[in-house]
Amino acid sequence: MNENMQKILDKIKEYDKILIFRHFRPDGDAVGSTRGLQAILRLTYPEKKIYLQNADFSEYLSFYGDEDELLPDEEYADALGICMDTATGKRLSNQKYSLCKELIKFDHHIPVEDYGDIQWVEEHRSSCCEMVAAFYAAFQDELKIDKQAATYIYTGMVTDSGRFRFREVSGETMRLAGLMLDQGVDTDTLYAHLYMREFESFKFEAFVHEHMRITPAGVATVYISQETQAAFGLSGEEASSCVSYMDSIKGSLIWLAFIENADGSIRVRLRSRFITVSELAERYSGGGHACAAGATVYSEEEMERLIAEADTLLKNYKENNDGWL
Ligand code: AMP
Repeated sequence: MNENMQKILDKIKEYDKILIFRHFRPDGDAVGSTRGLQAILRLTYPEKKIYLQNADFSEYLSFYGDEDELLPDEEYADALGICMDTATGKRLSNQKYSLCKELIKFDHHIPVEDYGDIQWVEEHRSSCCEMVAAFYAAFQDELKIDKQAATYIYTGMVTDSGRFRFREVSGETMRLAGLMLDQGVDTDTLYAHLYMREFESFKFEAFVHEHMRITPAGVATVYISQETQAAFGLSGEEASSCVSYMDSIKGSLIWLAFIENADGSIRVRLRSRFITVSELAERYSGGGHACAAGATVYSEEEMERLIAEADTLLKNYKENNDGWL
């Protein structure tokens, strides 16, 4: 057991008020880990005040229902803050996190920045939810869980691991997922929520397949302008899902989606097999995991530069490695 797990449990016991934070534009793991930990702590310590304090929500996971309102600033001063699934302080959706008396960083991203009084970071974990499940497993005699809490946690384990496909998935991941399923997770309903899509989104997928391009070395790219988003009636978040439509092209070990934001900047989603793209993302105001990273570019020229760098990266990789697909 990581020594920080015990320190975190001790801190949780010490405080009457615990505020839980996550990164902006929350995905299944950010929502699942924060809601999952909150649910475990509320079941175990009904006398404590335990709130999620985040400035934005996930439309995609809206089936989980509303979250806590933001509290007035003075409520933060005597609270323990737990910041989940977030590598850097500036990516937290609620910048009031820093008003908390003490902070815990609870994360599975490459640690590009230290923040918090206690930092529990395990970058080999396939999701932050896997860490929540490990935390629960380590203190099972003391912590309580129920079907709803396990469903939140299982959601993040499933979504962040690409449905248990990515290389970070280990035997431990599956054992912990099993522990969550043992609580009665309704997988039929959960997967229906995760997979069901509006009719129009299939039309958008067809558009992406029509408009994607491929560089000489095999980097697949697509650019989704504000105009395209309006034409399909998509939110930026919905448009961003297009990165997954390019994930299975043979020989295309890097694929990039560029989504124009309302302010003209361009969100970049970088994905890869075998090759590390997080360093490329870091050169363009971003970061993330080895094979799933994000960045921002501010012009079409910068976008073309990033694509050219990705092309060189892929070319070099193919020249120097065997066994890729
Ligand atoms: P996304 O494409 O937004 O899903 O991002 C993939 C991964 O990279 C996620 O784990 C994000 O938390 C991380 N990420 C995305 N954008 C950034 C950024 N600007 N800085 C650091 N990490 C990022």
